[in-house]
Formats: sequence, C-alpha cells, structure tokens
Amino acid sequence: MNTTRFDHMALCLEGRHPLEILRWAADCFAPRLTFATGFGVEGCVLIDLIGRHRLPIDLFTLDTGLLFPETYQLWRQLEKRYDITIRGVQPAWTVEEQAQHAGAELWKSNAHRCCELRKLTPLRAALQGFTAWVTAIRRDQTPDRATAAIVEPDRKFGLVKVNLLVAWTSADVWAYVHEHDVPYNPLHERSYPSIGCWPCTTSVAPGEDPRAGRWRGQGKTECGLHTRWATVTMTT
Ligand code: SF4
Repeated sequence: MNTTRFDHMALCLEGRHPLEILRWAADCFAPRLTFATGFGVEGCVLIDLIGRHRLPIDLFTLDTGLLFPETYQLWRQLEKRYDITIRGVQPAWTVEEQAQHAGAELWKSNAHRCCELRKLTPLRAALQGFTAWVTAIRRDQTPDRATAAIVEPDRKFGLVKVNLLVAWTSADVWAYVHEHDVPYNPLHERSYPSIGCWPCTTSVAPGEDPRAGRWRGQGKTECGLHTRWATVTMTT
C-alpha cells in the first residue's frame, strides 16, 4: 500500500466504529494480521471485539516474566471468557539468566537495554510473517500518539499498522468496558492507569499524567512498541 492509499484508507475509516475497522482489517490482512496486547484496558476492549465476533486475528503478548500477578490472572481470565488463545512470547533469557549475563535488575541501571532484550527483540521475531498489526493506542495518550492515523505504515517493523481506537477517549473505553462487562486489570482501580512490568510501574497520584507511573524518574515514557517513525530508537 503506498502513502496515498494509506491516507485515503485512513480518511475513509475515520469516524467508523472500531468493530467496523477491525472487520475491514481482517478482510484485508487475515491471517497475516496480529494484535500484541499488553492487557491494558484498551487492549481488553480489542480482545473483547475480536473474541465476541470470532475475528480471525492472531493474539499474543510479550511475557517478560516480570508482569504483575494480576496481569497473569487477567490473561487466563480473558482466554477462558472468550475461548481464545493469547500466545505468550518470551525473551531468550529468563530473568535469572539476564541477571547473570547483563547484570542484576537491569531495569534499574539500563531500562532501554532491558526493554530491548525482554520486549523489542522478541517482538521483532514474533512479527515475522505478519503483514499488519492492530493497536490499542489512543491519540490523547501521549504527544507522540496525537497525530496517529487509523491506518499508517509502521516503518519500524515493516508492517501496516491499524490504530482502531485512536479517536476514543479514556471515558469511551471505560463506557465500553462497563457496557460489555469486559474483564480488566484490578490494578486500574488501585491508581494504576497504565500497567507494564512490575519493576517499572508505580501507582499515580490524583491529577498526575496517567503514564507518570511508567519508568518513573528514568526519563523514559515508551518501551518502543508504538513509538512512531523509524528514526526513534527506544522510547514505548
Ligand atoms: Fe525491563 Fe522494565 Fe522494560 Fe519490563 S518495562 S522490559 S522490566 S525495563
């Protein structure tokens, strides 16, 4: 798809319900279409749409070995609820092996390297063979995401990226979750609006940016999965 076609499709899909966009993506790209979920609340909405409507979209998660117990529990709960499989993609090294080869608690000394080893390298391998992936990013989450189109080239991973929730707000997401009784991480109710690996996630104070609890104090706001444009090296 060339740039003009991307722009045309993005314009055509603007204002459509995420389910319509998902159906369009499945028609165009399945079975080479995947969704890498981190089990955020937006991701749970996508899993609900995929699961309830039996859409032929592959699902996987980057299992860093450092997810919260609540996240592992949610993973199993979603699989059972929708009768689906969400593949776990593991890094080459266990946490113990990483400590041995690259230093103990690498997330404290070099979070970029740790994300590279535990998320980005496994992600690149997991995306081999796919043509497109859907994401759960929203435009109001970060300045980098503010200009995301519904369909755009993902030059970093050489895929088509379908951002079907870009136009939704946090309130839209939660309204959907409550209306459809979608399972979500109970940590969200304990002041964790954005949840990643436990060593790099804290709760946030009232009024703080929802992503302020990710890599707090490390000058890092992204792990690199959905940083836009190929020139950026490591930031999610
Ligand atoms: Fe490592 Fe933290 Fe990145 Fe998880 S979020 S891979 S613990 S640096």
